[in-house]
Amino acid sequence: MLYQPEIETLAIEKLRKLQNERLVAQVAYVYNRVPFYKKQMDEAGVKPTDIKSIHDLHKLPFTKKNDLRDNYPFGLFAVPQSEITRIHGSSGTTGKPTVVGYTKGDIDIFSEVIARSLTTAGCKPGMIMQNAYGYGLFTGGLGIHYGAEQLGMAVVPISGGMTERQIMLMQDFRSDVLCCTPSYALTIAEELKKRGIAPESLNLKFAVLGAEPWTESIRAEVEKGLGVVATNIYGLSEVMGPGVSQEDYEEKGSGSYIWEDHFFPEVVDRVTGLPLPEGQPGVLVFTTLTKQAMPVLRYWTNDITTIYYDRAGKRTHIKMGQIIGRSDDMLIIRGVNLFHTQVEAVLEGFNDLSANYQLIVKNEGKMDEVDVKVELDPELCSALGLESIDIEFIKSHDRLGQVHRIFQKKIKDNIGLTMKVEFMMPGAIPRSEGGKLNRIVDTRKK
Ligand code: ADP
Repeated sequence: MLYQPEIETLAIEKLRKLQNERLVAQVAYVYNRVPFYKKQMDEAGVKPTDIKSIHDLHKLPFTKKNDLRDNYPFGLFAVPQSEITRIHGSSGTTGKPTVVGYTKGDIDIFSEVIARSLTTAGCKPGMIMQNAYGYGLFTGGLGIHYGAEQLGMAVVPISGGMTERQIMLMQDFRSDVLCCTPSYALTIAEELKKRGIAPESLNLKFAVLGAEPWTESIRAEVEKGLGVVATNIYGLSEVMGPGVSQEDYEEKGSGSYIWEDHFFPEVVDRVTGLPLPEGQPGVLVFTTLTKQAMPVLRYWTNDITTIYYDRAGKRTHIKMGQIIGRSDDMLIIRGVNLFHTQVEAVLEGFNDLSANYQLIVKNEGKMDEVDVKVELDPELCSALGLESIDIEFIKSHDRLGQVHRIFQKKIKDNIGLTMKVEFMMPGAIPRSEGGKLNRIVDTRKK
């Protein structure tokens, strides 16, 4: 089922026409209302009338996170204070948050794209949604909440954390859908297993996961552990929040539809900023087409991915692949670019290893090194009676020694780097306690 079949399957030419009209209006709107954009465009020698269609977008300068910081808190708002109905901020760990504002109309569109996304994820009116995204300044909790209500679901606003309580309510309320970060879904799945609660005894059908990069190895573990179909939801506060794109539950693995009637995507070269053709990886850039309180023109997300049309898909909107990582989280190790998701992707298919891993970046000599810590599968540990890790034992053990060698070789073959692989006992690596999980520990001196 599609939430808004007409717009979701709009013929490309008609979609372009709509985008062009909206873009022209949005550019004129911000030029006249936000001094920052007027100055940016004047300095670049671009007039609003130079932007006639999406083909002219490249003439506009990029907007970056620093521009939001420099205009903290409300400098990029395009409407008077009295028209703002909600203010959110990014979860930014250091310093001031980046602040975003919404009018009543923006919240309506936010809810509409979330309702559209949830339908794409398999959700239906009448289902019970356990919303374990954090409520607060972060856009995830409230954003999903309003959209799920708009779709006609019953929302349990439990927020992130309190895993025991999550499980109790999931059992007692017979929740149909779980929304949270993929790393927190793993935490819940693991807790279920520890307590001997079979996923079949629950009523969960779908998990809608996002806010951090994840790959197929995590999907496999979450789907098995929770008994769900798990799909990806993507978004960022600067553009709206979650619901900028969503994967279809029947088209898993083929990318997430970007709701391009509201958010126009480009992928550009990380260094030159030049637009890249369909399918080539680069930085995702968004121009909002319908926002009122805080539109953004060519917002540089820092997220690395590809965009492409899937002609076999149910909808006409463009898709994006999984986010490989944020370009500012990219490690450069001995000249090789590395994102943690590349190591995660290698884990797929290794049944003796879990999806709990961590990368330790260090420099003890001249060269940077990366160690991969990965937990062994708990069932395997019980079957082998393993209570602690002894590297000599692992290396001499037929099965574990072979897994160790093959995993290390596959990392080298796929990524081009030799990494020291350390097997860990289940539970040794930090878990998500409700939100995003940092999988990289950088011990190098800055
Ligand atoms: P921040 O994390 O910067 O404080 P947000 O909470 O708005 O702010 O998070 C947005 C960012 O989260 C995105 O730019 C992206 O890096 C990441 N993100 C969100 N959804 C996904 C997803 N489905 N896959 C990968 N990364 C995601």
